[in-house]
Amino acid sequence: MTTGTPAEQPSGLVVITGGSRGIGAATARRAAAEGWDVRITYRTGEDEARRVVEECRGLGSRADAARVDVTEEDDVLELFGSLPADAGPLRGLVNNAGIVAPAGSVVDLEAGRIRRLLEVNVLGAFLCAREAVRRMTDGGSIVNVSSRAAVLGSPGEYVDYAASKAALDALTTGLAQEVAGRGIRVNGVRPGFIDTGIHAPGRLARVAPSVPMGRAGRAEEVAAAICWLLSPQSSFTTGAFLDVSGGR
Ligand code: NDP
Repeated sequence: MTTGTPAEQPSGLVVITGGSRGIGAATARRAAAEGWDVRITYRTGEDEARRVVEECRGLGSRADAARVDVTEEDDVLELFGSLPADAGPLRGLVNNAGIVAPAGSVVDLEAGRIRRLLEVNVLGAFLCAREAVRRMTDGGSIVNVSSRAAVLGSPGEYVDYAASKAALDALTTGLAQEVAGRGIRVNGVRPGFIDTGIHAPGRLARVAPSVPMGRAGRAEEVAAAICWLLSPQSSFTTGAFLDVSGGR
């Protein structure tokens, strides 16, 4: 007979970076509905973030938002240093903030563009994961939002983006093993084509026929996977990757 079965219900505080729109906003709404208190971050979308916070509060969550550029260490320190003490130890982090640059061949990529992609998609996730682990004194769950591109490489279009997400996957694999003994789980979600504002106009309509399920995904469909990995229902899953790509 096993003992020590973890609680089935989510409870406590979760930080979601890039929660002002797209997948991050959908994740905040779902996490709030499932019982988490959420702290979302935005960089430029303050009005959108405020609306997401109001929706989350309407679902019973003690929600709030903070302006954070994940590439700025001081912003990240301020975010994690200002989490409400009465919420108890931090229980979750969703490293969702990310960018993509316009499509281009590797031979045309400029250093500044590659550097910015790596800073947002990799350095930002490292800084947030580091601060989260320091505050997860009673276990927790970190979910890194990667991409199918990390596996497929995105030749001719987004190889720099794919490389940044592959680096994020290595963070997931390594950190999961580092912190497993402390009750902290680290997993990745790899979305395929999801209908959000990150895409250039017309791109989703062009690529949808190449998806085995014949359509782009919805942000809510990625949020469902993220929230499962956040929740105690996935209590024995760590160092894993969950594709949400319609079979691509
Ligand atoms: P959106 O462009 O809709 O949202 C991106 C979010 O990231 C925004 O909230 C934005 O904040 C935030 N952000 C961007 N740069 C920074 C920064 N420097 N510091 C802090 N926050 C920042 O994108 P999606 O919702 O589509 O993407 C979310 C994640 O999912 C990304 O990591 C992306 O790579 C990944 N993904 C998306 C796919 C898709 O098809 N949509 C496919 C595979 C992966 P603000 O708006 O306030 O500036």
